[in-house]
Amino acid sequence: MQTVAILGRPNVGKSSLFNRLAGRKIALVDDTPGVTRDRKEVEAEIGGVPVRLIDTAGLEEAAPDTLPGRMTASSEAALRQADLVLFVIDARAGLTAADRAFGQWLRKAPVPVLLVANKAEGRNGLQAAMEAYELGLGDPIAVSAEHGDGFGNLHDEVRDLLHAEPRRGKGEARERPLRLAILGRPNAGKSTLMNALLGEERMITGPEPGLTRDAISVEFRDEEGLIRLVDTAGLRKKARIEKLLEKMSTEASIAALKEAEVVILVVDAIQGMDEQDLRIGRLAEREGRALVIAFNKWDAVEDRTATRRKLDDTLMASFAQMKGITVVPISAANGRGLDRLMPAVRAAYGLWNRRVPTGELNRWFEVMKERHQPPLVEGKRIKLRYATMPKARPPTIAVFGTRAEQLPEDYRRYLVNSFREQFEMPGVPIRLHLRGTD
Ligand code: GDP
Ligand code: GDP
Repeated sequence: MQTVAILGRPNVGKSSLFNRLAGRKIALVDDTPGVTRDRKEVEAEIGGVPVRLIDTAGLEEAAPDTLPGRMTASSEAALRQADLVLFVIDARAGLTAADRAFGQWLRKAPVPVLLVANKAEGRNGLQAAMEAYELGLGDPIAVSAEHGDGFGNLHDEVRDLLHAEPRRGKGEARERPLRLAILGRPNAGKSTLMNALLGEERMITGPEPGLTRDAISVEFRDEEGLIRLVDTAGLRKKARIEKLLEKMSTEASIAALKEAEVVILVVDAIQGMDEQDLRIGRLAEREGRALVIAFNKWDAVEDRTATRRKLDDTLMASFAQMKGITVVPISAANGRGLDRLMPAVRAAYGLWNRRVPTGELNRWFEVMKERHQPPLVEGKRIKLRYATMPKARPPTIAVFGTRAEQLPEDYRRYLVNSFREQFEMPGVPIRLHLRGTD
């Protein structure tokens, strides 16, 4: 079994991360003589790989000194056993001297290190996580151990790294599935669609609502590859108690959204898009997921032209930050249109993963600045210098410059919209981070 060690300075959330990763099905490993008593160890499954997970929270407390030497001494034991290190920082607090010292030390570690930016719930958290690039340890994985955000990604990254650098065992590479959530209001046709995608006999019944907030999932394969369908209220059909369902559907939607990379929003074409649909769409946008709309029950729609136009108008008015969402009219009940649905999902996934090389990005950026100069703010000019694209999933642009963080909303929108057009990313949420330099 491979070993994953959680390292980082005190209070960044190592124990919380440990508990979250250990999940419910944990087997406590007894303290064995010679092993530091404070060290917590469990056997857990991360991204489908059984691992021994070590939490070093107690160790750091014993050596509060931030000197690299002291930290090295206290964490070295854990590192010696590890096949992979999760180096945790606190995205809210920003990088401290101790983080930098730790990071420098870990850059020389003989095993892969995954940088985990914890406490990154909400937008501010993501922004803060960006700072961690400075550590030179690759892309930070933004998570919130407390809220459960970002764990789908973390699981996948851990799995990939464990397989990429197996210390023992065969380490057969496992294909990474596309994580998909099918959301929509009650009766839109989610279950019918899932049945069509999975085949009746492969449907599983989820836990009763209220028992767990964790999303469960089921995998299937189509011609293009593996897909993990994240559970939603649709899979929990047995518990159809109106009140409960209403409350639960938002919660379940959020849980599924957090696990998913792409969301299919099933809209009942007979009824049209309503407030609840819009709310789910906005949640997907807020969580930074790729979105495809399945316009279901197309067979029962009388005036197709008018129905489609109405939907397009609603989308135009409601998803300014995510222009060009793909709409696939389908009939889940008779299977029509399903052959176009999964290709649309994969296309959205591709765009969502897309990274633009820095050179290409800055050629675009120069033209944009030329076309429209950033405005004066309080009589002072904002001077934008350059742009990078530090990450995808969703595509994220970082713009650096003097007073960049004061850039007004309409200029931000101008940049995002033109980026979307230039690099052809319709229907994908795009993040813009502004970093002031002087
Ligand atoms: P450790 O010393 O590194 O093991 O950190 P702990 O797991 O004990 O967490 C330290 C503090 O950070 C506690 O008060 C946690 O509640 C808090 N914390 C942990 N994870 C998160 C998170 O994702 N978001 C926020 N806002 N706080 C967190
Ligand atoms: P869920 O609550 O979103 O899971 O919705 P269901 O899958 O249970 O479907 C709700 C109702 O819509 C059922 O009566 C289905 O038979 C019906 N339905 C689902 N898909 C279609 C479709 O493509 N065309 C038509 N006409 N009815 C459908």
